Amino acid sequence: MIRRLPVLLTPLLALALCGCGAEASGTGTAGTGASGTTASSGSGSPLHVATAFYPLEYLAARLGGDAATVEDLTAPGAEPHDLELTPQQVGRLSSDDLVVYLHGFQPAVDEAVEQQAQDAALDVATATSQQDGYVPVEEGVEQADEGGLDPHVWLDPEKYAEIAAAVGARLEQLAPAQAGAIATRTEQLRGELTALDGEFTRGLAHCERDEIVTSHNAFGYLAAAYGLQQISITGLTPEQEPSPGRLADVATYAEEHGVTTIFFEELVSPAVAQALADEVGAQAVELSPLEGAPEQGDYLTQMRVDLKTLQTALGCSPA
Ligand SMILES: [Zn+2]
Repeated sequence: MIRRLPVLLTPLLALALCGCGAEASGTGTAGTGASGTTASSGSGSPLHVATAFYPLEYLAARLGGDAATVEDLTAPGAEPHDLELTPQQVGRLSSDDLVVYLHGFQPAVDEAVEQQAQDAALDVATATSQQDGYVPVEEGVEQADEGGLDPHVWLDPEKYAEIAAAVGARLEQLAPAQAGAIATRTEQLRGELTALDGEFTRGLAHCERDEIVTSHNAFGYLAAAYGLQQISITGLTPEQEPSPGRLADVATYAEEHGVTTIFFEELVSPAVAQALADEVGAQAVELSPLEGAPEQGDYLTQMRVDLKTLQTALGCSPA
């Protein structure tokens, strides 16, 4: 079974396809890897920022604006958990002004940062609190994970806003001549995230069901923030194959709770979720954990698509 899309390895192709930069002015001034020039943090040339995966790329590009050129280490269409970096990508980190990553999410990035970019790195895990991946569901129902810190902090808009504040503050330090504009953009985004949080709170307040059956254990923070119960087919990383026993347990849970929807995600094959949905008479529907760039729009628009998807699946009445 094909479990994920092929990784685009050609840097030029990745660059061509990469929607890097929320604003057009944020891209194109420096070719990714096209030169070995030393980045300067002076006011004249933009900061070179590397980000580990899409939600961090979105923050750096949006908050940095034309003060930064941003390169995402995870190619479009690639599943970021098990990212492998090329020697060229690892080498380039040593000349970046800033590397934004989430310690504990992508082992290859953790290792590369330790080797090449300790002084230039920002670990966004230090900007917020993390919860354990093991959240009890109910008696007799096990989660897929034994435990371990859950890295999927960006799916709680309030936590994502905390991370935005940390990224914005670091960019201000690195580009003091543009600090005012960066601070303004950071405040703007934090306001939008507060509004998004309110939409989720209101939109999920009155629902017929609160159980979400997901592909991998990515929605723990979203569930905790909005009073949902998540049961996932696989654990904190999506590459494990679920055992027949696990599938049977999840199917039983779905039937007992009248679950109408089994969620799959865009970067992992929907085959398992579809099979489970068929077995329990539910629909398989995409719910994005935003581990890659959305096909359309950005973090905020995709989160609103997810909210609508959840409202439909859970039978929520309009806020
Ligand atoms: Zn994940």
